[in-house]
Amino acid sequence: MRRKMVVANRKMHGSIPSNQAFLEGLLEGTRGFGNADYAVCVPHPYLFHAQAILTGTPVAWGGQNMSRYASGAFTGSVSPGMLVEFGCEYVIIGHSERRLRGHDSDDSVGERFEVAIKAGLKPIFCMGETLAEYEDGLTDVVTIRQLNAVINQVGMQGLAEGVLAYEPVWAIGTGRAATPEHAQAILCFLRGHIALMDEAVAENIHILYGGSVKADNAARLFAMPDIDGGLVGGASLVTEDFVAICRAASLA
Ligand code: PEP
Repeated sequence: MRRKMVVANRKMHGSIPSNQAFLEGLLEGTRGFGNADYAVCVPHPYLFHAQAILTGTPVAWGGQNMSRYASGAFTGSVSPGMLVEFGCEYVIIGHSERRLRGHDSDDSVGERFEVAIKAGLKPIFCMGETLAEYEDGLTDVVTIRQLNAVINQVGMQGLAEGVLAYEPVWAIGTGRAATPEHAQAILCFLRGHIALMDEAVAENIHILYGGSVKADNAARLFAMPDIDGGLVGGASLVTEDFVAICRAASLA
């Protein structure tokens, strides 16, 4: 039985005071929601803050990206070891906001996945189609291509060490979430693809849905059998909204 999981992607938002208010509000608000797992991915400068506030609590934290390299002349980049040093359990990789701006290719995301698991981090691997690809009926083709790039890099046992997130690009930040039925169909398809190679991995791996998850649609999304929780952007900027999504996961 997979536990539901909710991950906040705070993107490039916040300040030290607002970060503190959010994290403390989250700890307070999720007290008693012990049936699901929660994590917060913050901008790199706030990792120290997440570590200070969340250490010893049930809420985990992580980065939103990382370099493929351990160290070197990579101005502006952050290594996996640095994330580990700040207590991160997770790191988001392959987010569409990075893929679409040309920072990340399928192969470089696969390499990041491998580097993350070798460093002891759990990658939250994002995949999803653009609106044009969706309208052309290419959702399956695109997500499988993105997923296979990771499988080719790390194999099934490596894949099992991460978390997957289906995030249709047309749903991110638009307020137009996929319907629970659409998200369920794609996650079931992805899980079926994994099952062809390893049934145990397919059964156990967490696959999240991301894209305009809100307080008012979370319960219906999380009621779907293959949706193991949510990766939440905009609604993680308002503590009460994010706590309501965590409540929906805990009750699902
Ligand atoms: C995201 O960016 O990962 C995301 C899911 O954003 P939003 O919830 O705002 O659509």
